[in-house]
Amino acid sequence: MAEEGQAKAGQCARCHRRLTDPVSIYRGMGPVCWSASQGETFEADLEASDEEWARREAVLRNHGEIDLGCNWEYDQGEDYLPCNIRVSIRFIRPHRTLPEWPNGVYEAYGRLINPRHLAHPTIGECEQAAEVTFAAGTDLRTIYAAAVLAGPRCTAQAAWRRRQLARRFRRAA
Ligand SMILES: [Zn+2]
Repeated sequence: MAEEGQAKAGQCARCHRRLTDPVSIYRGMGPVCWSASQGETFEADLEASDEEWARREAVLRNHGEIDLGCNWEYDQGEDYLPCNIRVSIRFIRPHRTLPEWPNGVYEAYGRLINPRHLAHPTIGECEQAAEVTFAAGTDLRTIYAAAVLAGPRCTAQAAWRRRQLARRFRRAA
């Protein structure tokens, strides 16, 4: 069984309703929850010209990053309130420790902002990685699409978690 608060495949990440539409299944949420999770924010980025894609590749290969905002939310599990996460795309140069990517690799990743805020004072802290990798690969368009999806997906799952936590604290009160 999936961890409480994590949608299973074919379920909306935010409300856990079953999904049937192919676009919704790809997004991991239905149209209402996609909107509520600010899914449209960076969608238009994917319809860029070839010149714009080439410019992005150059920026990334020149040690730059492309930032898709930091107002996304990240589910830290049932013992914590969700924290914010900044979603970005970067290029990792060829490296001895990454022999599977001899020409370097694009990565869609997130950096947690002020993680591990306690959801409840009686609950102890646990280890939490500061970075999350969403996707890595040599095709920038694929990795960019994964990054566009990651923010709304994380935010949708965090919204589900907030509802679970609110219910739990109401019970405890
Ligand atoms: Zn939903």
